[in-house]
Amino acid sequence: MNDNLFEKAYDPEQFRENGHRLIDMLADYMKACLDNEEMPVLPWKEPADQEKYWRGVFNSSGKFSIEDFFKDYLEKSNHIHHPHYAGHQVVPPLPLTALANLIEAFTNNGMAVYEMGPASSAMEKVVIDWLLGFWGWQIEGGGMLTSGGSLGNLTAMLAARQSYKEMDVWENGIRNGLAVMVSSESHYSIERAVKIMGLGEKGVIRIPVDDHFRIQVNRLQDILDDAVEKGISVFAVVGNACSTSTGKYDDLAALGEFCRKNKIWFHVDAAHGGPAIFSEKYKHLVNGIEMADSAVIDFHKMMLVPALTTAVLYKDKKNPFEAFTQKARYLLQDKGELNWWDSAGRTIECTKKPMSVKVFMMIKMFGAGLIEKFVDKTYDLARDFAGEIDATDDFELAVQPDSNIVCFRYKPITPGSVDLDELNSNIRDELKNNGEYYLVQTNINDEIFMRASFMNPFTDIGMMRDMLGQIREIAKLEMN
Ligand SMILES: *Cc1c(COP(=O)(O)O)cnc(C)c1O
Repeated sequence: MNDNLFEKAYDPEQFRENGHRLIDMLADYMKACLDNEEMPVLPWKEPADQEKYWRGVFNSSGKFSIEDFFKDYLEKSNHIHHPHYAGHQVVPPLPLTALANLIEAFTNNGMAVYEMGPASSAMEKVVIDWLLGFWGWQIEGGGMLTSGGSLGNLTAMLAARQSYKEMDVWENGIRNGLAVMVSSESHYSIERAVKIMGLGEKGVIRIPVDDHFRIQVNRLQDILDDAVEKGISVFAVVGNACSTSTGKYDDLAALGEFCRKNKIWFHVDAAHGGPAIFSEKYKHLVNGIEMADSAVIDFHKMMLVPALTTAVLYKDKKNPFEAFTQKARYLLQDKGELNWWDSAGRTIECTKKPMSVKVFMMIKMFGAGLIEKFVDKTYDLARDFAGEIDATDDFELAVQPDSNIVCFRYKPITPGSVDLDELNSNIRDELKNNGEYYLVQTNINDEIFMRASFMNPFTDIGMMRDMLGQIREIAKLEMN
């Protein structure tokens, strides 16, 4: 046994050297991406080939170079910094927030309780209070950071159920007849949360949407009355701001009014589209969000920081505690203050990444102004892109965009016997394989559409025009 093993593994000089090299490499990589250099956005390999490749690296007995390893990983990753990336809702993080991520990982201050992460616990309180201010909840509200919108939605649903005073599920276990009313366009994590909570398929009451994929608010009362008649207690209504598939915002004010009237918890899934609240131009889209009881917002989508970083906000600061125990009152301090400094009482997580550090730094350095510009730029681009599509004869939109998400498809002027689903699916595959542009595909009313999410502030309309031209070329080849 080499006695020096630990000295080597924790060698500060080696770390310094590797670190410098890695930062140089990442800076060059970012420059290449942003300069729009010739490179595939997604260097596509079939999963089995990818696995084979990495297994080979793993099992190889040759010398392992950290530099080569990092380089290789970069090359084989999906290049979300490239302005031709318009795929999933993941942002190229501000490079400084990646540095904050490094210090978070390095210090490993887990923050289940204050003493594990004193600085990060306090920073979390500061950034949550900052966010609450935009909701108008700064006095009575509360919240915390957690690892992702899916976990955030589950946490908020637990709080909603626990607030349903007729029963204390935390103490007594579930009983039949509890349900949540959700948009039929909700993110799957809502349905999954309800099922994790043991409420089954009966626990999910889907509200139909209109032509704009928004909850039909005039149906709400009938649907609720129908549930009540069947002996079902609806403990929450969930609205989208915005929906994942088509990026459309529900009428939050109408949903809020309905929930207030019927005394039902109102949750807004604002994982993607919540940051519209920072934009003078687009904040009308979230009108009514202040009527919610809880909301979830992802920092790693429209707030420019690395995944996973999500805020769960509550209008009433008692609720995050009650999500996990009805007997939360013991957490009340002598002065009647709730203990914000131990995060474990409010999250599913015990040890938690000190994710507040990067958020704190991002806000301190750039403020809400940068988020506003980012929202404006990407939402504007979506409208311009939709305009381009409307001006053609051979493309069509699924719906006019609200956000930075645009769903569209190729539809030849004389489609004849062409199967549009097959054609669009093949076009998307071909685009992905050739690598110059990257977008995803989605299913809308059982038809296949291509879906662009503009997540990169350097993507411009010229590039998107070029992409439409390439799609047209691919389509011609496909139809031959
Ligand atoms: C992305 C998304 C989620 C899930 O968030 P994760 O951070 O990926 O877990 C939930 N709801 C909506 C509306 C989303 O867009």
